[in-house]
Amino acid sequence: IKNIAVLTSGGDSPGMNAGIRAVIRSGIYHGMNMFGIRRGYDGMVQGDIMAMDAKSVANIIQRGGTILKTARSEEFKTLEGRKQAYENLKKHNIDALVVIGGDGTFTGASKFIEEFDIPIIGMPGTIDNDLNGTDFTIGYDTAINTVVDAVDKIRDTAESHDRLFVVEVMGRDSGLIALRSGISTGAEAVLIPELEVDYDAIMKRLDKTRKNKASRIIIVAEGDKEGGLVVAEKIKANFPAYDVRVSILGHIQRGGKPTCMDRVLASRLGVAAIEGLLEGRKGEMAGLICGNVQFTPFSKAIKHIDKINTNLTRIVEILSL
Ligand code: ATP
Repeated sequence: IKNIAVLTSGGDSPGMNAGIRAVIRSGIYHGMNMFGIRRGYDGMVQGDIMAMDAKSVANIIQRGGTILKTARSEEFKTLEGRKQAYENLKKHNIDALVVIGGDGTFTGASKFIEEFDIPIIGMPGTIDNDLNGTDFTIGYDTAINTVVDAVDKIRDTAESHDRLFVVEVMGRDSGLIALRSGISTGAEAVLIPELEVDYDAIMKRLDKTRKNKASRIIIVAEGDKEGGLVVAEKIKANFPAYDVRVSILGHIQRGGKPTCMDRVLASRLGVAAIEGLLEGRKGEMAGLICGNVQFTPFSKAIKHIDKINTNLTRIVEILSL
């Protein structure tokens, strides 16, 4: 391996830039020629590829988003599109790839390896934390801190007006953003797609703790069957006297400066991705498990596993008295 390219794909997440920087600089450190591909697989199909040096990634570690931009590519889902992408890599003599993204990105990478036998290592770049083979994904820590910051602000106004706020947070079909942010904002209840919602229990709890609190926060994951608006309606129907409001946090959760944890994670995994390629690995995602770098085959990394720790769900209940 002599020429390695990196791309970011799928939804952006804070820390992707720190990851790009780590890949480019560790590649150069190991004597490789390094390239960046713009707009994920779309740029690979279009041939939007550029050489990158150490300076090209200066002053980006602290920036959210991705300097390489990201996109969803329908063409890459076709064999024709992937052939075109392969031809473009050949033009630059690129013989290995690092892809930063989520499960779709790794699914595409697996196909590409099978068809064209190019070594690819993945890095988990998604705020949802919904990948197997790493305790945390790059961007998750920043996203939950953004949620906590926003909910703290909502709490101030909720408290002043004696209101109940239903806050809907991101995470697609994963409740991990909801769960940790719920615990750290003192939420009354956290509704996540992984667990059946026991409305009776929630209503009883709201009733029982009524005199203890002026404001209440209920966190709903976007993947929850009902969603924030429906949950709010149900609460209103049960407690007509409550002043219930809904806040859907939306895309602010995807932006912003990456936290220290995300920068360190992205830096470690970027170095690991290059070293993994140089050791002859392919078709694996670099992740961090219990503080150590580990590689997990793409096929396992994308299996939607239940990363919900029931000790955490218990904490919400115990502490909402
Ligand atoms: P996020 O978790 O942030 O959404 P992701 O990597 O899952 O990230 P996707 O949009 O699902 O995001 O996938 C990124 C890209 O991977 C797609 O736009 C597509 O080009 C490619 N891809 C996804 N699934 C396949 C597939 N079955 N075959 C080939 N390519 C695919």
